[in-house]
Formats: sequence, structure tokens, C-alpha cells
Amino acid sequence: IKSKLPNVSTTIFSVMSKLAIDYNAINLAQGFPDFDTDEELINLLNHYSSNGYNQYAPMIGIEKLRHSITDKFHKLYKSNYDYQTEVNITSGASQAIFNVISTLIHPNDEVIIFEPAYDMYQPCVELFGGKVVPIELKYPEFSIDFNELEQKITSKTKLIIVNNPNNPSGKILTENDLKSFEDILKKTDCYLLADEVYEHITFDEQEHQSFAKLHSLKDRIFIVGSFGKLFHITGWKIGYILAEESFMNEFRKCHQFNTFSTHTPSQYALADYLENESNYLNLSKFFQDKRDLFINGLSQTKFDVLPSEGTYFVNANYSKISDLPDNEFAEFLTKEYKVATIPLSAFYNQKKDYKIVRFCFAKKDKTLLDAINNLMTL
Ligand code: PMP
Ligand code: GLN
Repeated sequence: IKSKLPNVSTTIFSVMSKLAIDYNAINLAQGFPDFDTDEELINLLNHYSSNGYNQYAPMIGIEKLRHSITDKFHKLYKSNYDYQTEVNITSGASQAIFNVISTLIHPNDEVIIFEPAYDMYQPCVELFGGKVVPIELKYPEFSIDFNELEQKITSKTKLIIVNNPNNPSGKILTENDLKSFEDILKKTDCYLLADEVYEHITFDEQEHQSFAKLHSLKDRIFIVGSFGKLFHITGWKIGYILAEESFMNEFRKCHQFNTFSTHTPSQYALADYLENESNYLNLSKFFQDKRDLFINGLSQTKFDVLPSEGTYFVNANYSKISDLPDNEFAEFLTKEYKVATIPLSAFYNQKKDYKIVRFCFAKKDKTLLDAINNLMTL
């Protein structure tokens, strides 16, 4: 068949996880925890699936979960999303992102992304005939050049995609950054998709700056989240989108023919579990301890560690160890030192090789220490 995505191959996350399995390596590549979620959440899931909650959920998601999400956003960011018309449960953040793009993008529309960027944005845009306009985050701080953003916005720019906290850079936006986005958006009529799947993973007392705080731009901002990252359940694939009603009506037209609805018992379980806010407000501390443990160990190896302000990733430069291109180095590290990582170049459109690999520290302490032991011998 004639490929719709001729330049796309299997995602790096699948490639590196397979390599980790094949070579019996510790998988610090793909971002998922190797520890289980809270037993209480598992019990809730079992409870609902054992008590008849096994048929289609409403297309928009069950009411209690939608309510919990809009309440949470109101409490944290003073936003006012209507739980009937302005929130939708999706099969992971991925499906929400895909659907935003399918709802909005017409052929030849331009979409600005910041690189290094999560790998699904570009192919989705291209599937609908859109054109990606990449802006490189300034290396090595991975900061946004807002002048460049202003210059790259044209009459064709339909959408800007921002991932905050940022995968893979581990960078988070400040209040000033949010203000800069607000000022620029007000001068244009483009939309913004805020991928906030790492919302509750910010470190060193820094607060997450949700785009939901920009109330006056609510009709042009779409917020996407994921319970996978929030509750260590990446395999459940439950996420959501918040957006103003007129966009949501269009979004739902696409969503209803792309899965229709999402796994029912998990929605009930999550709705109950969300009632206790300590279930997510302690997440930053939990992951900060892991970050510190891992970075502490990694600093004693030959890697040069870059800052991680949020997410569950940290990057490190390996120039003192090797001059291999990063994809070859990641392969070498997996095969020879039994630690799988993600080469940073996988997140760039243009060829870039900063000699950096990304480590995921959402792992048991023992897994992290075992990996450090292997890396010490480099
Ligand atoms: N966006 C980013 C930045 C991610 O890292 C991920 C992976 N968790 C997703 C979206 C997709 O999330 P989900 O697994 O809920 O589809
Ligand atoms: N978000 C995860 C990561 O960045 C991977 C998700 C996936 O494999 N699609 O590693």
C-alpha cells in the first residue's frame, strides 16, 4: 500500500523496550513504573468489574469522573470547566492528542512544536495533511525562545503544542513563560494544545504552571492529562481532555467514531480514588526522592547529568565515555552494560546529536541502584 507515513518507523519506546528484553537489560528507556499502583485502586477496579460495571461507558465518560476532574482543576487553577460539556474521558492522553489534531487540522495548516518533542505529535499532524514547524528548545537549558516563537507564527499557524512538564527534557515552565505564551496567543488566533501528563511531577518546590490558569484564553486552549502517569497505571490507558464547549462538540464528533468510549470499570475506580487528594499531591515528593537517588548515583559515573525539574526523566551527556552517535551508544549500553535508555535524537525532526541519552527513574530504588552499579563500570 502507499504509506501515509513513509518516514515513520516503529516508535523508539517499543524498539528500546524490545532490546532491553532481548538483552536482559534494566529498562530505564520507556517511561513506565516497574512498581505496582496502590492496592486500594486495584481493589476498586476489581470491585467495579465484579459488580456489573462491564458494559459501554457513556461516550463522553462517566459523570463522577468528569466531575472529579473539573472540580480538581477548579481547586488547583481556579478554572471553570463544565463537567457535562467541557471535559471528555479518553483512552489515554494519546487518544486525546490524536483527536485534538484530527478535529482541528486541515491540509496545509501549520503546527508549531518544541523540540526535543514527544514523538507522537508530528506523525499525527502529518496524517491530517498538516505541516510541523519545529522550534528548537535552546540547548543546554532547553528554554523557549519566545522571539523565535513569534517569528514562526504565520497566518497558516493553527496550533501550538506545548508539553509541560516536558518529556524528554525534564524542563518545566515558569509563571513568566506562561505569561509570554498568553501575550503571544492574544496577538494571534491560533490554538494551543497543552500536554500536561506530568502535571503532578514537579520538583524543588516549583509549582506546575497549568495552561488552565489562562482563563481568558479558555476557548483556544486544550488541556490533556493522563491517569497513567498520575497513579502508576500506564497500562490502563485512561486520560482526559478539557476544552471549551464549542471545540468539545467537534472533538466529540471525532471521538465517538474513534473508540466511542473508554474502559468502564477503571473510570469508576478512578472517580472514587480521586476523592482523596493526597493520592496525587504527594507524587512530586515521591518522584523527587527517586530523582535524587538516581542522580546521586549517576553523578559518580562518567556521565554528565543535566537538571531534571519535573517528569520522571533525566538526561545525561556521555561525551566522556564515547563518541558514538546517540542511537548507537544507547544500543551499546543496552547490550554491553545492560541498561536501556532513549537516545535524545529520537525526539528531534532535524538530525541532532548532543551525545545525550534519557533515563527514566520511575523505578524501584533497587532497579535504580542496580543500573548505577552497571554504569559505574563504564
Ligand atoms: N504525552 C507525553 C509527553 C507522554 O510522555 C506520554 C506517555 N505517557 C503521553 C502523552 C501519552 O500518555 P498515555 O499513555 O496516557 O496515552
Ligand atoms: N511516554 C513514555 C515515554 O516517553 C512512553 C509511552 C509510549 O511508549 N508510547 O517513554
